[in-house]
Amino acid sequence: MKKEFRRICADRMRIRIQGDDGEAIKLLMKKLEERGAFDGLGNSTDPDGNIRTATILVSGGRGIGSKEFIPTLRELASLLGGTFSSSRANVAAGWADRSRQVGQTGKYVTPKIYIACGISGMDQHLAGMIQSEYIIAINKSSTAPIFRVADFGIVGDVKVIIPGLIKAIEETIGKEIKR
Ligand SMILES: Cc1cc2nc3c(=O)[nH]c(=O)nc-3n(C[C@H](O)[C@H](O)[C@H](O)COP(=O)(O)OP(=O)(O)OC[C@H]3O[C@@H](n4cnc5c(N)ncnc54)[C@H](O)[C@@H]3O)c2cc1C
Repeated sequence: MKKEFRRICADRMRIRIQGDDGEAIKLLMKKLEERGAFDGLGNSTDPDGNIRTATILVSGGRGIGSKEFIPTLRELASLLGGTFSSSRANVAAGWADRSRQVGQTGKYVTPKIYIACGISGMDQHLAGMIQSEYIIAINKSSTAPIFRVADFGIVGDVKVIIPGLIKAIEETIGKEIKR
């Protein structure tokens, strides 16, 4: 099992960019679009749906800083037609419900897109999400282990990137409605 896990990590194609400016958000939008994340844009969903069957997961870790940031992650999940999930650190802190926990002692998930926000990527967490089709990681530390498994990574502040991404998506929806 451990060997298989390592092999999957090594096989990942990694793209990592630095910074939390508009350029990073533009690239992130492009990656999300390529992966079909915007296909159902505008049809918001319940961010508290079942994380095992979700096609998109917006997952928060301790790096979000406080529980006050959870509604922002839920908003993004809802906008993308996805679901909110969490690392164990946030569950232990009482910021997220136990049903949201991804990992060895949480749930094993297989979404098309997994967006790890401020999650370090400890083995116990990776075990639960490594089978995701496409992994996006946002972490302010360039050496965070989550980048070893991410298909697309941003070294930046989630508290800048995620609100910026929400704004960019809302502008996209606005344009679609005007057409
Ligand atoms: C037996 C056992 C079972 C476990 N089961 C699970 C499990 O099922 N699921 C699970 O998740 N864990 C599990 N754990 C815990 C696991 O080992 C980790 O402690 C946990 O996953 C860490 O959560 P985290 O990544 O949210 O927090 P941390 O490890 O504290 O990482 C926080 C990350 O946020 C980044 N960061 C900080 N500020 C910002 C910012 N502003 N913007 C961007 N990034 C930022 C930091 O660089 C850091 O990488 C288990 C542990 C044990 C011993």
